[in-house]
Amino acid sequence: MDLVCRTIAELDAAVADCFACERLVAWREQVARDKRAAFRDETYWGRAVPGFGPDDARLLIVGLAPAAHGANRTGRMFTGDRSGDVLYAALHAVGLASQPTAVHADDGLRLFGVRITAPVHCAPPDNKPTPDERDRCRHWLSTELALLTPTLRAVVVLGAFGWQALLPVLADAGWTIPRPRPKFTHGAHTQLTPTDTGRAPLHLFGCYHVSQQNTFTGRLTPAMVEEVLRTAADAAGIGGSEEGFAV
Ligand code: SF4
Repeated sequence: MDLVCRTIAELDAAVADCFACERLVAWREQVARDKRAAFRDETYWGRAVPGFGPDDARLLIVGLAPAAHGANRTGRMFTGDRSGDVLYAALHAVGLASQPTAVHADDGLRLFGVRITAPVHCAPPDNKPTPDERDRCRHWLSTELALLTPTLRAVVVLGAFGWQALLPVLADAGWTIPRPRPKFTHGAHTQLTPTDTGRAPLHLFGCYHVSQQNTFTGRLTPAMVEEVLRTAADAAGIGGSEEGFAV
């Protein structure tokens, strides 16, 4: 069932209330009940995690899915885990976030001109959503893109899963995907032309996912993340201000 969401706030509320994937609902709730020992005194979110960031973002970051003891615990994208530590430190370093850390949903963190989302909004076992789950969640990403279209100028995709999930959504949303399809690589950059005159071109960037698998092995360094974010912010027309970046 597709709900009509007229604003990002409505979308976020609807996502948080989604129970469409039986396996993922069971998993996210089981993790929230069992907890990790270090968080045993906390109340886990245990629901679908909406996107995070302003509703007039010019830059969208697309990850994979919430982490079981990160966003599934705190209720905010990339908040409370090692992946988020890397991502938010890099966002802060390039002026897109008000602080370098993301600990819990009420920690005061603000994003400047950038929003973070995922093609799958519920934590999956082993961080691996099935193709069916990805496809079932797709309408949320489509709606988010549609609502952001007036301001959106660039997207950074973290990892191949998000890249594969996003391309058909972008095509449906009204941007032309080149043939052959652009391949995911770290540092990939392609500019998508709109299929109608009512929308702007969109810069699409690839960045290795900020997972521990990549950052602990040195495959992805903080400098590499910052470089992609800085280039994407530039392409999106996000300019610097005293407080951080302004649009
Ligand atoms: S993964 Fe997406 S479609 Fe499935 S329950 Fe979560 S929010 Fe709903």
